Amino acid sequence: MPKRIHLYDTTLRDGAQSEDVAFTLDDKLRVAELLDGLGIAYIEGGWPGSNPRDEEFFRAVKRLNLRRARVAAFGSTRRANVAVADDLNLRQLLKAETPVVTIVGKTWDLHVRDDLKISKEQNLEVIADSIRYLKERVDEVIFDAEHFFDGFKADREYSLKCLEAAVDAGVDVLVLCDTRGGTMPDEIAQALVAVREVGAVAFGIHCHNDCELAVANSIAAVQAGATQVQGTINGIGERCGNANLCSVIPNLQIKFGYDCVSAEELKELARVSRTVYELANIEPFKRQAWVGESAFAHKGGLHVAAVQKNAATYEHIDPEIVGNRQRVLVSDLSGRSNVLYKAKQFGYDLDYSNPAVKAVLERVKQLEAMGFQYEGAEASFQLLIEEALHGKVSHFRLKSFRVSDEKLGDADPVLAEATVMVELPDGSLGHTVAQGNGPLNALDKALRKALMPFFPALESVELHDYKVRVLGAHDGTDAVVRVLIESGDEEGRWSTVGVSTNVIEASWQALVDSIEYKLFRDEKKAHRVLEHDVKAGELPVG
Ligand SMILES: [Zn+2]
Repeated sequence: MPKRIHLYDTTLRDGAQSEDVAFTLDDKLRVAELLDGLGIAYIEGGWPGSNPRDEEFFRAVKRLNLRRARVAAFGSTRRANVAVADDLNLRQLLKAETPVVTIVGKTWDLHVRDDLKISKEQNLEVIADSIRYLKERVDEVIFDAEHFFDGFKADREYSLKCLEAAVDAGVDVLVLCDTRGGTMPDEIAQALVAVREVGAVAFGIHCHNDCELAVANSIAAVQAGATQVQGTINGIGERCGNANLCSVIPNLQIKFGYDCVSAEELKELARVSRTVYELANIEPFKRQAWVGESAFAHKGGLHVAAVQKNAATYEHIDPEIVGNRQRVLVSDLSGRSNVLYKAKQFGYDLDYSNPAVKAVLERVKQLEAMGFQYEGAEASFQLLIEEALHGKVSHFRLKSFRVSDEKLGDADPVLAEATVMVELPDGSLGHTVAQGNGPLNALDKALRKALMPFFPALESVELHDYKVRVLGAHDGTDAVVRVLIESGDEEGRWSTVGVSTNVIEASWQALVDSIEYKLFRDEKKAHRVLEHDVKAGELPVG
């Protein structure tokens, strides 16, 4: 039987102390549900004594019907000069009415002397009193031994005495904290061995990532006997963050064979990671191990050719085990395999010998040299494949556009106005004007106004994202601008790209690709025969 590991999540407490994270009450409840679905044993909900939102969380979380997770309230040991029954903080903890209470206390003599300014003996009483008092009133009491590893180094005997005081008072789990995150894995393991002499009690580990070792340290502790691991989703937390449970869990489970969550729950990992990023309003970290978007992405042609034969050639596990997926990127490093892989994703059945594959590859290399990039613009890339196979997708032709910006006074907003003249499918001219909050917005409105009588489905298209990137000048060329836009309708989202020395021109190209893609996709869906306007040598955008 693999050894059972109890996961203790502190995303909602330590994680929320991350400088760029602010969870609302609703966010916190969503996170709690996600953690429960992931099979986390303990959810630390916050510090009820510290702010009203945390108090409200503990009331609201009771109504959630969590499947398995036990909710823990967090606080600190009683204040040194107050009787335990009169301590406000401990009273708030009890008011949270959780089955588990976790309290943090000092185990480093330096903190006892310089921070608490009490005697070492008094600190032992503080720990013992607080735990005994809570243990009489709460089902499970966990003691977070703050700065334990620093204390162990400075005064081993005293740090162990602090743990003994907690054990004698009836604590359920002793959690050793590397609060400053400065300890090395071998030191963690050595300390754990010494600590196990303290008594027959369960041990936990709480690591911070200041040396990029929080995950390694957590694993070292488990191998030395710890059965509870504390951490946060995506490793968010104070300073460099906490041990990242999105790595701790698969490492312990897949690489070391511990029993953390079920195989089904493990498949939720990537989704939980992404959702927590979204709720925390943080851009997901692409290169994040296990769950990041790039964790199983292949770009080099050789790699792509190999993973298509056998994914194990460049993937250390099957990405689906953690709910992630394999991706193949198209870039100037690409070989034919990448193009074939993408074509297949878009529903084209091509083989190596198809001349269109070579044509697309040549085109991509040419365009990338100009500053285009297709890794974030899959709709533009699909239009390139379509062009190589059947000719350029073209539902309208630009005759001219004009954009102007006007600002009438310091306090007034800038108003953009666009005039567009396009040749429509029946040969007539569409000539429209529209205003917008910026040039792209105005162009988009004017273009759609012209096309709408022929293509009413354009009504549902929305622009979701607009990214402008200035690519530095080099080799005597002018600096160029790359524009990426993300559009969407009720059926999904797509991204397109444009490049020019002029930002409006680049935006126009991306906009035209977006609209052409939408019309093309709808038609393809309706199995209609497409009309193509084949023009050799013309750019596939703009
Ligand atoms: Zn911490």
